[in-house]
Amino acid sequence: MSKLERKQDRAPVPSEWEYAPAPEARDLVKLRERYGHFVGGEWLEPRETYMTIDPADEQPLAEIGQATPAEVDLAIGAAREAFENGWSDVSASERAKYLFRIARILQERSREFAVLESLNGGKPIRESRDVDLPLAAAHFFYYAGWADKLEYAFPNRSPRPIGVAGQIIPWNFPLLMLAWKIAPALATGNTVVLKPAETTPLSALLFCDVLRQAELPPGVVNIITGDGHTGAELVKHPGVDKIAFTGSTEVGKAIQRELAGTGKRLTLELGGKAANVIFDDAALDQAVEGIVNGIYFNQGHVCCAGSRLLVQESISDPLIGKLKRRLATLRVGDPLDKNTNVGAINSPQQLDKIKELVASGEEEGAEIYQPPCRLPEKGYWFAPTVFTNVAQSYRIAQEEIFGPVLSVLTFRTPDEAVEKANNTPYGLSAGVWTEKGSRILAMSQRLRAGVIWANTYNRFDPSSPFGGYRESGFGREGGRHGLEPYLEFE
Ligand code: ADP
Repeated sequence: MSKLERKQDRAPVPSEWEYAPAPEARDLVKLRERYGHFVGGEWLEPRETYMTIDPADEQPLAEIGQATPAEVDLAIGAAREAFENGWSDVSASERAKYLFRIARILQERSREFAVLESLNGGKPIRESRDVDLPLAAAHFFYYAGWADKLEYAFPNRSPRPIGVAGQIIPWNFPLLMLAWKIAPALATGNTVVLKPAETTPLSALLFCDVLRQAELPPGVVNIITGDGHTGAELVKHPGVDKIAFTGSTEVGKAIQRELAGTGKRLTLELGGKAANVIFDDAALDQAVEGIVNGIYFNQGHVCCAGSRLLVQESISDPLIGKLKRRLATLRVGDPLDKNTNVGAINSPQQLDKIKELVASGEEEGAEIYQPPCRLPEKGYWFAPTVFTNVAQSYRIAQEEIFGPVLSVLTFRTPDEAVEKANNTPYGLSAGVWTEKGSRILAMSQRLRAGVIWANTYNRFDPSSPFGGYRESGFGREGGRHGLEPYLEFE
């Protein structure tokens, strides 16, 4: 270790940073008291409703429709009609035009969307502003570019749209997941019924405004809200030709069972328990930033989060020391404050799940570390947490926590790292930190994960396919690969 590193390791923990509040303007968002379902280009008055809240202070935000089977049926009918009476015949360049318009409007209204996303989901405004919104717009731009090039993407295969796509998305990246689902579906000529997660419906509902602004023909995109019951109705409805689902492995399995033998197409993007592997030759300070971004980004509500840190034994002590000091500088609190790094947990149910798994880690014998931080009294919060002395059999090393909780394991050789990294039923993502390019290539061949990052983590790009295998699901979103699940070939 260099002299400088040794000196830095003894530096006092800066636990008392004073920041003036830097709140983003909440009044950029005008909420209605009540939202219905967006069906056939019109707002349908909902028969049943529930209240959506701000997880940072538990205040109600708006009344939201809980779609009944009859309302699901209306939405699917509108999507079918739009598909058969026009949209499937619209020229490819015309479809691209709508996607370009949507992308540009999202850019123009990005601040408003970012505030809404943080308000309803609890994620820091820095993330919704700098990650969710730019990536959502980029996704529409990217697939706008593909819309009139499908014959080139799949030469001699005569690609055709499938029909009506039912799309169910989770609460961790509400608008970005909407973009991942809707952009490729429209680019390939399908129509859509999308259901956002019950805790985060507002950005999808504001997106209906964008659809109107873009003058997308009525019925091409329909948005219905509600909980898992609504999702289940959408899945089993005979009028849907394809289901695209992102969410928990448990629900993904139930959907797969439901659709077995129906001939409906299915893609599933499910859970993960990714290994972030740090070799002894890695640039440690950069690795610490990557570890933090890997697990504390979006409060760890990320299916590809680097939730298992595998550290080469010889650097374990200095790395964990640096990580703990870095954790002390993370600011937990108001999602709408521009200084906030870690926002609110999305729901009380999710908070209970995190607490339960953290308690199991302590009971099983892992050592817990949480930096000193004051959590707000109202709302749902959990301090950034690191567990060391974790055995592979512990629940915190096996189960997806979906919270700001890192489990640290050590290894001595690359073989051991691979064996431990692959010791999971999931296979969504992984990270490798090393100075050696050859080692990156060797590791990425052996790690069983759909996405592998090298000397970075949680980086996304619309041109790069994303998805997993085994219990993380199947099918790819993003890139040329992301077109295929929405096409039929002759
Ligand atoms: P999480 O456990 O992370 O909340 P879920 O898989 O329960 O994830 O939720 C992801 C999405 O799936 C949400 O939109 C939710 O409403 C929906 N959903 C939940 N249960 C079902 C189901 N049985 N069928 C279809 N969709 C469902």
